[in-house]
Amino acid sequence: MSIPNPYCPVCRHPGTTHWAEARDYEYFSTEDNYQYYHCSRCGTLFINPIPADQLHRIYPSNYYSFVNGKKNPVTRIKEWLDRRFFRSVLRQIPGENLHVLDVGGGTGWMLDQLKKTDPRIRFTQVVDIDQAARQIAESNGHAYYEGTMESFSTEKKFHLILMLNLVEHVADPLAVLQKAGTLLAPEGTIVIKTPNTDSWDARLFRKTYWGGLHCPRHWVIFSEKSFRLLAGNAGLAIRELTYTQGAPFWAFSIITALSRKKIIHTSAEKPVIFHPLFAPLSAFFALFDFIRRPFSRTSQLFIRLGHPGNNRDRS
Ligand SMILES: [Zn+2]
Repeated sequence: MSIPNPYCPVCRHPGTTHWAEARDYEYFSTEDNYQYYHCSRCGTLFINPIPADQLHRIYPSNYYSFVNGKKNPVTRIKEWLDRRFFRSVLRQIPGENLHVLDVGGGTGWMLDQLKKTDPRIRFTQVVDIDQAARQIAESNGHAYYEGTMESFSTEKKFHLILMLNLVEHVADPLAVLQKAGTLLAPEGTIVIKTPNTDSWDARLFRKTYWGGLHCPRHWVIFSEKSFRLLAGNAGLAIRELTYTQGAPFWAFSIITALSRKKIIHTSAEKPVIFHPLFAPLSAFFALFDFIRRPFSRTSQLFIRLGHPGNNRDRS
């Protein structure tokens, strides 16, 4: 007797298909195999079962968001583009005393950037499970809550809530979005960046390893369709949904393919992100995705959400 495939975590559709088996080819944190399923109705790609009891193992101490490394030129360009983007987002938020929350914000490096962009930002809050980031965040003037978004509570309302590469890492994205909605000021904006499964690279590297899986750390990966469904279920309105470059996923996918063919070497001591090919491949594919973006879907979604009925900045 065969076990039925799991239900889709976003639309609850029972008709999901097995999409891929993968391992941690990026950090080699475990030897286990993980199963990914795809929903034919909404396009969600998800891991099952969720390795929620392995957090300390699957986020090793050399995990990239825990390490403050040297900035390469790609990172600098990315930061410059981010600043430009956030300046335009902040311009649309009225008020003289703004509160900003960064969920999964680590040391608060993004909040540091935002404070330089807009002097109206008076209060900044990080919510993160990383114990080591607290000291740096607090010394840079950010309030720090060590724990999950679901368990965070405050009397404050936020004008800008960032969830950059966050919702794909959590077991219950709906609960996290609903929580963000309760913390959002009436005219506030939630900015989300998350992988898109409905992309060339996802299809191209399905048989070897697609970097967007970030196996086993990405648990629920959306398409435009499934994210719109999730936002609606959370009672939030989509103000803007665009596609942005997914260069790291191309780089992860290619380096893993070469490594599995034994052409190059990666290991727990030498994770993919520190491989010498990572920076040049990322630069090349950032440009590639930038050029093709007007006529094809790249593998990252950029979304702005707000309270429904508040259409003041829809143009
Ligand atoms: Zn679904």
